[in-house]
Amino acid sequence: MKDTAIVVFSGGQDSTTCLYWALKNFAVVETISFDYGQKHKIELEQASTIAGQLKVKHTILDLGLLNQLAPNALTRDNIDVEKYGEKRDLPNTFVDGRNMLFLTFTAVLAKQRGIRHIVTGVSQTDFSGYPDCRNVFIKSLNVTLDLAMDYQFEIHTPLMWLSKAQTWELADQLGCFEEILHNTVTCYNGIIGAGCGECPACVLRARGLEEYLQSRTT
Ligand code: ZN
Repeated sequence: MKDTAIVVFSGGQDSTTCLYWALKNFAVVETISFDYGQKHKIELEQASTIAGQLKVKHTILDLGLLNQLAPNALTRDNIDVEKYGEKRDLPNTFVDGRNMLFLTFTAVLAKQRGIRHIVTGVSQTDFSGYPDCRNVFIKSLNVTLDLAMDYQFEIHTPLMWLSKAQTWELADQLGCFEEILHNTVTCYNGIIGAGCGECPACVLRARGLEEYLQSRTT
């Protein structure tokens, strides 16, 4: 396949797995990350480090506007991340419009570079109640972007129907299990690898890992 793909890349477990998936499925791969005022700059630093190690182009776009518009626990020091199970409707780590904006800006850049394929690590299975991780939203946005720019995008979501355990399994199949385990930042408190162990992202990640490791030994 000669095509080029651009991966929406945060340096976390899911998007790093997607990056390896893209490297297997496309001839040329590049990555894009967004600086939206995350409390933990280590995410962006880690994304740059991983992209550099894999020798893929990495663009960081400033999306500070998002923090101004949608106060949330990922960007505001005065809002703590809710503990797992504490959530009511939507967790306070949800940022309204984030995936839509990320994918839209990615699409604008992609078209400029003649790229049709966009890869994102959203998953409906463990979607934590985030409405913009649902398959129906991605399909809808794909149509909207095509119409908006008169261009044929294809948004790929390799993790859409995978549980966290299956995402670990995919990483293993792609040969990046150790890399994901030690060098990605999934934790809402910005701690690399296994993370703080307490925030919802760490709980999901650890649970999935445990489930996968158990299935591997039996
Ligand atoms: Zn954590």
